Amino acid sequence: MENLSAELEKRHYTVRCFENGSAAAKAALEELAGCGSVGIGGSMTVEKLGLYDALKDAGHEVYWHWKVPKEEMDAARQKALLSDGYLLSCNAITEDGMILNTDGTGNRIAASIFGTGKVIFLVGKNKLAKDVPAAMQRINTVACPLNARRLGLATPCAKSGECTQCQGPARMCNVTVIMEGAPTSHPVLVYLIDEELGY
Ligand code: SF4
Repeated sequence: MENLSAELEKRHYTVRCFENGSAAAKAALEELAGCGSVGIGGSMTVEKLGLYDALKDAGHEVYWHWKVPKEEMDAARQKALLSDGYLLSCNAITEDGMILNTDGTGNRIAASIFGTGKVIFLVGKNKLAKDVPAAMQRINTVACPLNARRLGLATPCAKSGECTQCQGPARMCNVTVIMEGAPTSHPVLVYLIDEELGY
């Protein structure tokens, strides 16, 4: 974790390391205390850490499309995009500090790059991959199949765990971004967590 932290700092991220998710969640709440509104990207890590309820209990306006009826999801995504703070994880992070995410809709990736006031990535140790090809392999054979099964989508990877580069309507891998450094328009923090979290 120390090596990865140093690599991320070279790429101009603000990095903190935590022994477990609850310590990281507590720090995230403190970091976001001055943010009136907080958006959240699709994230099993954020869900597991209970941050949606914790943020609401702390008095923030919280926008998370996972927590609203289907017809309100797009509005929640848009409000999240312009929030004072934003929480998400990543699908993979390389040993030299590249952060990779693949989205079906693209809202999570968009918010992580531009528009929000402050972004915090919460990254469990299971997201670590040797390099970019290994990170893509992780996305296509671990993250995407697990997400497809969670959502009940009939993708080939949900059935077999293998990626066929499907082109059907259920395809989840529409937008992939490799962050080679921290975007310059807003603070981007990476919380490295010595615990397996999310997909
Ligand atoms: S491209 Fe299709 S098969 Fe491959 S990981 Fe994405 S959804 Fe699954």
